Parts: sequence; structure tokens; C-alpha cells
Amino acid sequence: MNGSAEDYKYVILGAGPAGLTFANRLLDAGVDSFLVLEKEETAGGLCRSEEAAGAPLDIGGGHFLDVRSPWIDDYLFRFMPRSEWDLYTRCSKIDVRGQLIDHPFEANIWQFPEADREAYLHSIAKAGCCLGLPAPEKFTDWIVWKLGRRIAEDYMLPYNRKMFSHDLDQLGTYWLSKLPDVSYGDTLRSCREHRAYAKQPGHAQFYYPKKYGYGEVWLRMGERLGTHLKTGCTVTGLDFDTRTVTARGNADTFSVTAGIVVNTIPWTCFDRLDGMPEELRRSTARLRTSALQIEYREDDPYPDSDAQWIYCPDPALSYHRVLERRNFLPGSRGCWTETNAERTEGNGNFRYMNRYAYPLNTIDKPAIMEQLLAFARRHGVYGLGRWGEHRHFNSDVTVERAIKLQQEIE
Ligand SMILES: Cc1cc2nc3c(=O)[nH]c(=O)nc-3n(C[C@H](O)[C@H](O)[C@H](O)COP(=O)(O)OP(=O)(O)OC[C@H]3O[C@@H](n4cnc5c(N)ncnc54)[C@H](O)[C@@H]3O)c2cc1C
Repeated sequence: MNGSAEDYKYVILGAGPAGLTFANRLLDAGVDSFLVLEKEETAGGLCRSEEAAGAPLDIGGGHFLDVRSPWIDDYLFRFMPRSEWDLYTRCSKIDVRGQLIDHPFEANIWQFPEADREAYLHSIAKAGCCLGLPAPEKFTDWIVWKLGRRIAEDYMLPYNRKMFSHDLDQLGTYWLSKLPDVSYGDTLRSCREHRAYAKQPGHAQFYYPKKYGYGEVWLRMGERLGTHLKTGCTVTGLDFDTRTVTARGNADTFSVTAGIVVNTIPWTCFDRLDGMPEELRRSTARLRTSALQIEYREDDPYPDSDAQWIYCPDPALSYHRVLERRNFLPGSRGCWTETNAERTEGNGNFRYMNRYAYPLNTIDKPAIMEQLLAFARRHGVYGLGRWGEHRHFNSDVTVERAIKLQQEIE
């Protein structure tokens, strides 16, 4: 495939939701000159599914299609009609010292015995946000400022330490719209009326396929691309001056050049980024990611719960979240767990390691990404999606961003 001047109008790196959507939009627009390069044998990225014990399991963790953007869902229903999905109302719980309470924590402390409830209320009343103190810049300080010391120590700090297995002091606070925002007034009202007053920040309602795992819709998007999608080839290099992409296939190493490169793979996974100034190369290398292992378990720790997923802050348990698949895949058995790669133990069941699961929101990340994305754009290279933009986007958001980027540049 070695080409001379320009082999393709577009080369898209990665066939997860971002790359698949961008490529399908090109087809919709009648563009034929493009190639998608994907290192795995199948499309779907973190949203892929496999089978374990006779039922689907999402190998990138628990994945649900949020209802918040109907036009995005309608776009995905073109590939997998609405009739093939079930609609669920979120039921998620937190295991606090063996007691399951509903999420979010601060809207459901009324579910604790009276002594605990009072201790939590007392602690929130003394939290910095209730005392009018300015919001801190570090994630760990922000948690105590927002929720008080008791909820921080019993839930948020241990849970986030397990999930990110990273020095939490390196994380900033600019991404916290992902977390529930429950006021002290709402907490008091919940305690008085014994019902939650809070808005879930995501997945209040969601779709999940009736017969398949979440991966099915992305597989179908990949199939539509035909020979435009080349799987089993790992991108290793990118030259910004010539927009030449180098990749390693099953049998060969090859390079292709493009008018425009759309990058959806982690910026830190390239062996070579040619034409990039040394200072930017050094700051790009400071971007942090974390890895996640998914494991199927026959011995479900919560066999009677009606939750679709359960958060587990207890440091004695290796995993931090359990997916109760019978509650969104009727008739299935067992559960799957999510464990940060640094905490994995494994018990011999089906397991899958995602080397890149979370782009970490370190304090210096926004400045690094601003420079990197601006430099790349000036060279006809566009960062897109969870890795291309290094942000905690959910799949519906990556689809939206891909549609908008394609509209902007085509
Ligand atoms: C635990 C967890 C739970 C989540 N839950 C939800 C949820 O409930 N709902 C939701 O909507 N979203 C959820 N997400 C987010 C969702 O996974 C992402 O939004 C989505 O996968 C982002 O798509 P993407 O294409 O940007 O990245 P990815 O899906 O990561 O795709 C990137 C692609 O690039 C490929 N690639 C990487 N390196 C190379 C290389 N060197 N060469 C070639 N190809 C390469 C990868 O194999 C992959 O196919 C969750 C994520 C995690 C980790």
C-alpha cells in the first residue's frame, strides 16, 4: 500500500465509536477516498462485547446508551433499530460497609440507621461548600469540601483510589460535572421525606440491546465500511509535515498519506510523532491513562440486588464496580467486575484487559491538550473522541463530536 503523494483524502486512526461515526458520516456524504486503521480484529473499541457463560459481556466495562441526546440515539438506531433495544431506568447502588444504598450517596443517606445518618449530616453541614469557602483545585480537597469528611472517607476517596489507582492529588476538578451535584438542602429534604432529591448526571434512563452486548451496534457500523476498514493493524507513527501514517499489519509494515488525518487513538501510544516540536513532544508524554480489567464471575456477590450496577469502595475488594447483567440482560447469570489493572487478582474466569480505559484528568492536562490539538489542526490532523481529545467522553458524546467534526471539515 505504499503510496506516493496522497493515498487517501482521509485516514482515520482507530475504529471505536469516534472513528466509526466519522467514517460512516463520510460514506453518508458520498466520500469514497478514506481508510480506517484499527489494531484489533473487530470494530467497536472500548464498546466491544464478547460472550461469557452463554450471554454477552462488555469487555470495556459496563456500557449503556444514554437517552439524553435523542438525535444521537436516532443516528445509532439507523444501524440497530430501536426495536432491538430495551429501555431501562437507572438503579445503581453503593456498598457501604455491607449495606447497599442507592446512588447518589448524599441523596440517600436516609437509608442508613439513624446514628450514621446524623453523623453524615453533621459532616456535610461542616463541609467547605456549606461554609461558603472557595472550591479547592485538587480533586481530593474538592471531595472533602463538597461532601464533608465522612462521605469522603467512607466512599469517594476509597472508591476513586480503587478506580484510578493513581495519586489522586494529581487530578484536577475541571471535569466534575460527571459527578452528581446534590445541595445540602436537597440532602436534608431527602432525609425528611425518605426519598432521593437529586438528578443523576448521566444514564438516568438508558438503552441496552435486547439480544446482544453493547458492541453489536458498533460491529454493524464497522460492517457498513467494507474495505474502507482495515483491522489487525497497529498504527505506530505519524508525520505531521507529510501526514504520513505508519502501521504494522499482521504480515507487513506499511505507510499511507492523507489529506486529513483524524486521530482517535491515544497520543501516548505512538512510537514516533515526527514534525512535532520537542517541547510539545515532552508535554504530550505527560498525558496519563489508566488500565482496567473486566472479569466474569459466576459467584455474584449481590445475587438478590435489583441494581444494574453496584459501586464497591471497600479497599479489601480488588474490584470497584460490579455489573449485574441479569438486570439488563434478562435470563443471563453471573456478573462482571471492573478492576483497575494495578489491583487485579483474577480467579480463573473470563478476563479482558483494557490497556487504555481512562484518560486521567491531571491538573496540567487541559493546557497540554489545548496546545497539542491546536498544533495538530494546523497540520491537518484532528484529535477526536476519548483519546484524540483525552477526555472522559461517553460513547454518545463521541458520536456527537464525530458528526460535528465531519460537518465542520468536509
Ligand atoms: C469502564 C467504562 C465504562 C463506560 N461506560 C459507558 C457507558 O455506560 N455509556 C457510554 O456511552 N460510554 C461509556 N464509556 C465510554 C466509552 O467507552 C467511550 O466513550 C467510547 O468507547 C469512546 O470511543 P472512542 O472511539 O473515542 O475510543 P475507543 O472506544 O477507545 O476506540 C479507540 C479505538 O482505537 C483503537 N486503537 C488504539 N490504539 C491503536 C493503534 N495504535 N493503532 C490502531 N488502532 C488503535 C482501539 O483498538 C479502539 O478500537 C465507558 C468507558 C469505560 C472505560
